[in-house]
Amino acid sequence: MAIRELDKPAWTPCAHLAPEGGCSIWGTHPASCRSFTCLWRRSDALLPPQMFPPDCGFMLSLDQTETWPTVVKVCCDAARPDAWDQPRWREIFAGLAEAWNCAVVIVEAGVRGAVAFAPSGKVFSRAEDPGIFPDEGRGLAVPALDYGPDRRAPVERIAEVGFSWKELLPPSLAERGRGTTGRGSRSGP
Ligand code: SF4
Repeated sequence: MAIRELDKPAWTPCAHLAPEGGCSIWGTHPASCRSFTCLWRRSDALLPPQMFPPDCGFMLSLDQTETWPTVVKVCCDAARPDAWDQPRWREIFAGLAEAWNCAVVIVEAGVRGAVAFAPSGKVFSRAEDPGIFPDEGRGLAVPALDYGPDRRAPVERIAEVGFSWKELLPPSLAERGRGTTGRGSRSGP
């Protein structure tokens, strides 16, 4: 995401990323960083318990919520770059894209889009559709025809439409509780 206070554009790594991982200025990091929460932490209703980032190997976040369109970014653990690529997660990504009229993008190395799920149901990959991922994946150009007509601010649409992950998972998974994982882990943009 973009960090206004640091003049950091979206889709670029932060200059304050520590080599060993994490934030090198934690404690004095900007307000935009402090207010960031991944989708798993935002609400019990948005994502299933199996999508707790340390368990599933990826983290979802919203690019922004005030103007249409927005992008849901899926950032994978560097040690598990293909963790997102399972039929059950693909169904949820496609369901989110349709429900929120946004693109859901698998992001490599924190900055380069690799796969995009569009609201139309199409799935684009940088390997096969390089024009959808300009600047070697640092941009995104999903065609306008692949979005639905509802172009309200994402925050309005999400509040009204919601999203029920339980309808997208097999009953055996959907009926499980949230387990013992908590929602208090630290996450930064
Ligand atoms: S929290 Fe992340 S984006 Fe913010 S200053 Fe630290 S490393 Fe940069």
